[in-house]
Amino acid sequence: MAVALITGATRGIGKQIALTLSKAGFDIAINYRKENDELATLKGEIEENKVKCLLVQGDVSNFEDCERFVKETVEGLGSIDVLVNNAGITKDMLLMRMKKEDFEQVIDTNLVGTFNVTKNVITYMMKARKGNIVNIASVVGISGNAGQTNYAASKAGIIGFTKSLAKEVASRNIRVNAVAPGFIQTNMTDVLKDEIKAEIAKNIPLGRMGTAEDVANAVKFLVSEESSYITGQVLQVDGGMLM
Ligand code: NDP
Repeated sequence: MAVALITGATRGIGKQIALTLSKAGFDIAINYRKENDELATLKGEIEENKVKCLLVQGDVSNFEDCERFVKETVEGLGSIDVLVNNAGITKDMLLMRMKKEDFEQVIDTNLVGTFNVTKNVITYMMKARKGNIVNIASVVGISGNAGQTNYAASKAGIIGFTKSLAKEVASRNIRVNAVAPGFIQTNMTDVLKDEIKAEIAKNIPLGRMGTAEDVANAVKFLVSEESSYITGQVLQVDGGMLM
């Protein structure tokens, strides 16, 4: 059975990716940072799809944590065939008022976190001579966004990282792609005021916010055989918001 490790999969997009890939037959390792009452329920839901589910604790911004939970995944489930770097945070503020810690925290979680997990996983994939990595970026990493210099820089960094790594490991039969979601309904966007949400939705050609399922389905495609000739790409899942 192929194994997928998904970071930050306790809720939102990561949780949905875990559920969708379990339905597609993957054994699932869920990385979580904080203990949460719903983790056992999620594990149960995944196991209903007749696959294994392992919960692995760790903060992606901490290299030693990543080294440990990647090892726990390989020992517990036998391999890592798919890695989805999903864990991410925002700390929005205009640059004039942004604290250095808020810039660093976002870069450390989103970009350095992607490095930390991938660096530990790639060793296993190189030995196996196969693998599939999907990094969750954002359309903001392409377009930029006022109030998100930290977040946009982290996501633009993820896109550069994705393309460079794709070139490094293609000869080993490892594909690396990114998904760039637009405006998706999760806790991350729930904090926005209704007026702001309505304003953003007005500029989405398909006329609605995206769902976690929309993003998870794109990830499922990128880790499937159906996309076996696709690497180093950024797939926008944004209802046409940025084109
Ligand atoms: P949520 O805030 O709903 O979930 C984020 C997840 O990341 C949580 O499970 C959280 O765990 C985890 N996480 C945060 N920091 C760490 C860390 N240091 N180590 C491990 N896990 C961590 O966000 P979304 O589901 O909306 O976002 C998922 C991804 O999609 C992110 O990378 C985000 O940037 C990206 N994205 C989202 C968009 C949207 O509109 N929602 C648009 C574009 C991109 P915990 O519960 O411990 O905090």
